Amino acid sequence: MAKKTVRDIEITGKRILMRVDFNVPMKDGVIQDDRRMRAAIPTIEYILEKKAKSLVVMSHLGDPAKDTKKAVEKAEKEGKAFDAVKFSDGKHKMAPIAKHLSELLGKPVKLAPAAFGPEVDKMVSELKDGEVLLLENTRYHKEETSKDDVQRMKMAKELAKYGDIFVNDAFGTAHRAHASTVDIAKLLPAVSGFLMEKEIKFIGGVVENPEKPYVAILGGAKVSDKIKVIENLMDKADKILIGGAMMFTFFKAQGKNVGKSLFEEDSLDVAKTLLAKAAAKNVALLLPIDAVVAQEFSNDVPCKVVSVDAIEEGWMGLDVGPATVKLFSDALIGSKTVVWNGPMGVFELSNFAKGTIGVCEAIAKLQGAITVIGGGDSASAAEKLGFAKDFSHVSTGGGASLEYLEGKVLPGVAALLDK
Ligand code: ADP
Ligand code: MG
Repeated sequence: MAKKTVRDIEITGKRILMRVDFNVPMKDGVIQDDRRMRAAIPTIEYILEKKAKSLVVMSHLGDPAKDTKKAVEKAEKEGKAFDAVKFSDGKHKMAPIAKHLSELLGKPVKLAPAAFGPEVDKMVSELKDGEVLLLENTRYHKEETSKDDVQRMKMAKELAKYGDIFVNDAFGTAHRAHASTVDIAKLLPAVSGFLMEKEIKFIGGVVENPEKPYVAILGGAKVSDKIKVIENLMDKADKILIGGAMMFTFFKAQGKNVGKSLFEEDSLDVAKTLLAKAAAKNVALLLPIDAVVAQEFSNDVPCKVVSVDAIEEGWMGLDVGPATVKLFSDALIGSKTVVWNGPMGVFELSNFAKGTIGVCEAIAKLQGAITVIGGGDSASAAEKLGFAKDFSHVSTGGGASLEYLEGKVLPGVAALLDK
């Protein structure tokens, strides 16, 4: 079902409350990658151009309680001193985000000391025409992610005071039902921003009504992470190409020797079932025919290309080989829809990046096809290897795009007004 967007609602003179996903990687208070922030700028600029009365922007940034607990435990184990306040300030406080947002927009951005409360109420009521206020990390309030509907709604009611309209551009959080994403949408007219609209169009498109021939390329670390994706795509795709470490679980299930390659003992039966299902449904499930192997997980040891039937003891497969790249490239020719989730190999190390590069090159060559990347590491692989511009869409939501590909309804999307 198509969802209403900022274009479908009167913005002028209205107070806008906007949820974004500014959950960017941080190190000691410094933003490491601002892709998610830049992705929300077109919607913010549109709202400002339309002369909204005010704009209050909110996001989470990590999870202060969870992240701090983990880091304290780690420090204790290593016998290191740990400054929880310094850690959380440098990782969870929105001040660097407010500063960077102001630079991206070329206008001042005010920062609230919390996501809601009397001080924030006052700041919002004093906003002048066209001013932008960023709320502090929504996850500093435990109500945000509470399992108790009443608690979440309590926070949503506080947030609802800050706007007449709710705009959600936080696709990366759309798979979570939180106070600032779902409960708030029950209190204010809720529409999508342009980023959310694009994600729904492309990821939703490849899931709901893909043009055929349709090829899905799946890789990454674990079969267990991707079972539901494979099962869901099996009903739609004409071909499924499997690479990454997950190929070894399939090979092991077929009785092949995989040496030291990563595979999942617990998923062998699942792999067998998936192979059988593909055969029954007439989906071509293509497995690699060669692999790049090494004796260590390292760029500094010798590596070689071998047939997948000739992996020796002590060696591990860390990428698909050139014959597989050719096989997959040929399989992609003529396709009209391509969805890619999961790198073909350990692309982070140059010795094992060629498989992922080769598949990217084959996708880049396709004419008139819709090509979509879903998955956090696949998106960074495409960015890092320089292919992001060659895809119709690179999703900004790792977990959210994965759940979308599994065929799940994303609560953050469902909560928006239907067109
Ligand atoms: P995504 O985030 O796109 O869903 P995953 O998280 O499932 O992808 O997998 C990404 C990781 O899989 C990468 O860090 C990559 O190094 C790893 N990987 C791919 N192939 C192999 C392999 N053969 N052996 C070990 N790790 C692999
Ligand atoms: Mg990942």
